[in-house]
Amino acid sequence: MTARWVRRPRGPLAGLVAAMVLAGGCVVGGVSESGPQSRPEPPRQSAAPGAERTRADGSTSVAEFKEDFAVAVEKAEVYWAEQFRASGRRFQPIRRVVPYQREGEVSCGGQALPRNNAVYCSAGDFIAYDVRWSVAAFRQVGDAFLYYLLGHEYAHGVQVRLGIRYSFTIQQELQADCMAGAYLGGSIRSRQLTLEDGDLEEFREGLLAVGDDPDQPWFAEGAHGTAEQRTDSFFRGYEKGLSACDLG
Ligand SMILES: [Zn+2]
Repeated sequence: MTARWVRRPRGPLAGLVAAMVLAGGCVVGGVSESGPQSRPEPPRQSAAPGAERTRADGSTSVAEFKEDFAVAVEKAEVYWAEQFRASGRRFQPIRRVVPYQREGEVSCGGQALPRNNAVYCSAGDFIAYDVRWSVAAFRQVGDAFLYYLLGHEYAHGVQVRLGIRYSFTIQQELQADCMAGAYLGGSIRSRQLTLEDGDLEEFREGLLAVGDDPDQPWFAEGAHGTAEQRTDSFFRGYEKGLSACDLG
């Protein structure tokens, strides 16, 4: 985040919520052994809400988003290397972070990644994200969302490294939210990142946007948890650190 960690929310979240709900599955990521399931393309107007808007200060260019994303990756590497070191293990950073723009441009385990998604691909040990979709979310919610998004996907890579595999996706997902919170709270406490006014609110708004539909059964394949569950998990990790995330 550094100096740029100060973005204010960008207007209504309705479009973003629609995009995320429609994208379904592991919207904010997912451990995917054999690649993510393909899912229907959301309607165009909700696929990239606000993507054409530019801020008055021009600070939400794609180039700048990528720069911020790179900072988030770097800080995640610092955080996880430290956690592994503290428990006497060596940390291998996630191999690559890959932005993509078109459906099928990147595949995971032989399956093309759909648009409007971000995912950790265990088959190739990389994180891939639809850059336009992510930039739209970044513009709508604020830059804190980007750190959350990366933190969540990165956590899936750490779960794989630790050999954690739950029976239900919701357990895997809520733990990744907790770990994303631990990464951000820990990085802020160790002054790797600086929290600015509005960032906590951006986390809350972002988590609200990625919650499952209330009708989604908790045990369903692809369930991530309701907005309330995801918010609770994230902030538990944020406040108490990794010990709150049941890493075993
Ligand atoms: Zn996930």
